[in-house]
Amino acid sequence: MKEKTAEQVWNNCLEVVKDNVSPQNFKTWFDPIKPVKLLENILTIQVPSQFFYEWLEEHYITLIKKVIRKELGTEGRLEYNIVMDGSGKTETPITMRLPNISTNLKNPIVSMPIDTANNPIKNPFVIPGLKKVQVESQLNPNYSFENFVEGDCNRLARSAGFAVAQKPGGNAFNPLLIYGNVGLGKSHLAQAIGIEAKKNFPNKTVLYVQSEKFITQFIDSVKNNTQNDFVHFYQMIDVLIIDDVQYLAGKEKTQDVFFHIFNHLHQLGKQVILTADRAPVDIQGIEQRLLSRFKWDLSADLQSPGLETRIAILEKKIYNDGIQISKEVIEYLAYSITSNVRELEGALISIQAQSSLNKKVITLELAKNMIDKFVKSTAREVSIDYIQKVVCDYFDLAIDTMKSKTRKREVVQARQIAMYFAKNMTKSSLATIGMHCGGKDHATVLHACRTVNNLMDTDKRFKAYIEELEKKISISN
Ligand code: ADP
Ligand code: MG
Repeated sequence: MKEKTAEQVWNNCLEVVKDNVSPQNFKTWFDPIKPVKLLENILTIQVPSQFFYEWLEEHYITLIKKVIRKELGTEGRLEYNIVMDGSGKTETPITMRLPNISTNLKNPIVSMPIDTANNPIKNPFVIPGLKKVQVESQLNPNYSFENFVEGDCNRLARSAGFAVAQKPGGNAFNPLLIYGNVGLGKSHLAQAIGIEAKKNFPNKTVLYVQSEKFITQFIDSVKNNTQNDFVHFYQMIDVLIIDDVQYLAGKEKTQDVFFHIFNHLHQLGKQVILTADRAPVDIQGIEQRLLSRFKWDLSADLQSPGLETRIAILEKKIYNDGIQISKEVIEYLAYSITSNVRELEGALISIQAQSSLNKKVITLELAKNMIDKFVKSTAREVSIDYIQKVVCDYFDLAIDTMKSKTRKREVVQARQIAMYFAKNMTKSSLATIGMHCGGKDHATVLHACRTVNNLMDTDKRFKAYIEELEKKISISN
């Protein structure tokens, strides 16, 4: 045994492995392994990534244990050198000792035999009748980078996405995971990357797929016994975009097949882009082994857009649609709908529809009526920001001045009025209102409300101002 080299030992192991796994799995999971050294009875092998190591451990550990014992005896041990980060660099491999190889195999070995012959690939995305397999990318051309308005809420994700599109597969973000709440532009951004990548590299195969569709296709393939075609199809994509991967939660078989595909693509330097509606750590029902994979790579989150970005998004849509809407209406919409971009767009579309149906010009009044109906179901209130804006406009003050510490009389009064309306028209706490109005405490807000009430009782003109303002602020008219 002493004369044996690492290579010989490993080759003997492979002989046995070969008989126990499908050719495709052998090619995917064992071909890339390099025997490094054999010291005493410890064989060191080099694997391309941490993920690869985890996969081996999860799926092939019993087999590997058996063959190592057979070659090196019961004292035989295996160590892994892991190449850092798929970059091909091997200078600083981590050596990971595989302790007493456990047999706690949760899943049976995934066996996914795939014929390497040129089988015709059956998949709904494939355009039939073409010699070279062409894949319809399933991208919505409207979801381009040009149409994706940049703001503080999305800057990082956007630039990461852009970098990915310049060098699919050959960048630091693989896989790129984009996450954020509903309606914040995940699907748009993910598709923008696909569109841009296709533009830069027309020969690359780009595919966008909703994870629900992926799941259905997989289930169908199991039913129809066409799993090979399914896997094979996805393994030939250069830029694979899977939207809303949180739906894979609890679907272990689909997760397995997905990560099989994922790893194959990753090994080949293909790009994978995923989106999810929450951060990787918060996704339940997806194996941690798989999630840990994402934590290393860049996850880019999308936040709710701020006021300026909301206005910019509306302006862009309006410009693209070639319609005319006054600044006043745009601002009203941007101030009132703060939740997400989809709702913002929905409101705009409703207003347009309403105006063209009734042949009415889009006025602020129409907008107010619409919004009221549009967001009725979701208990809605006017925002402190909007109140401040209307009050400032009314007194011809800059919002920043109102929020500043200045004690100038007219500013103090406008600030008090804004606080008064915020107290009466929103559910915000006194503390919150104070914070929004120049960092005041709750006592200041209470004092402001009292002052405004007193003035209304004693000063008719003041009362008239307040009533006029109230009408302006009020969302229902
Ligand atoms: P998600 O997938 O996160 O639920 P979507 O990508 O479907 O959200 O976005 C919802 C709508 O909002 C889409 O019509 C999209 O074009 C639009 N949208 C989101 N973010 C932006 C942005 N930054 N600029 C322009 N439009 C956006
Ligand atoms: Mg989406």
